[in-house]
Amino acid sequence: MIVYKTEAEIARMRDSARITGTILAELGGLIQPGLRTAELDAHAERRCREFGAKPAFKGYRGFPGSICVSINEEVIHGFPSSRKLRDGDLVSLDFGVLYGGYYGDAARTYPVGTVGPDALRLVRVAEESFENGLLRFVEGNHLSDISHAVQTVVESAGFSVIRSFVGHGIGQDLHEDPQLPNFGFPGRGPRIRKGLVLAIEPMIAAGRWEVDILSDGWTAVTRDRSLAAHFEETVALTDRGVEVLSRIQMTAGAPAGKELPHA
Ligand code: MG
Repeated sequence: MIVYKTEAEIARMRDSARITGTILAELGGLIQPGLRTAELDAHAERRCREFGAKPAFKGYRGFPGSICVSINEEVIHGFPSSRKLRDGDLVSLDFGVLYGGYYGDAARTYPVGTVGPDALRLVRVAEESFENGLLRFVEGNHLSDISHAVQTVVESAGFSVIRSFVGHGIGQDLHEDPQLPNFGFPGRGPRIRKGLVLAIEPMIAAGRWEVDILSDGWTAVTRDRSLAAHFEETVALTDRGVEVLSRIQMTAGAPAGKELPHA
């Protein structure tokens, strides 16, 4: 059952999504070769404490970290660890918080140091596919219009859409109805209406879409070990129109977090 949110609930979701986006942007600013992924996790935890928020993923079905860190062929759900980021890696960070009773959820893929043009293109296409999906997040459209718009961008770039994981509704639960695949025919599923809050999150691969789960029971990797990228925002259809709740307006100059001490 889809839980449509009132304007009062969406006001609270703006706060949780803004905290999510802020901390995620800070993590992005910390990324550099040699950084251990556990340091990103520690930073996220500390900032959650400072905001009075709870990391959404920690302990979720036993997940050990506050962030998901997925490197190169890892698509999602990688564990933070003592592993060091290396020049040329792609690192996907997925992060969410619970604040004021509501969840926020967002993800980005960042290049570490200097990465090749193909990897950069993959990252760009993940974001472009999100933006194209967002254009279909319009009252009266069908939910699968978003899915189809994402898929079209990804596949016309020669990449593939991960099939086994999907976007989702979000609110008082991290994962609510509806499920939102990143592929499919347009014109299917429920119609979009005001109060719908979604985590739209294309997960894409440079090669084929099949994934394996590693022996840790969580980390999803592309079966062909091709590079993967992930882009996610918490978005809402409100009285103001479409709002990307987790998007942070960065001020000119250094990204937030550059000036913050390492964890
Ligand atoms: Mg999500």
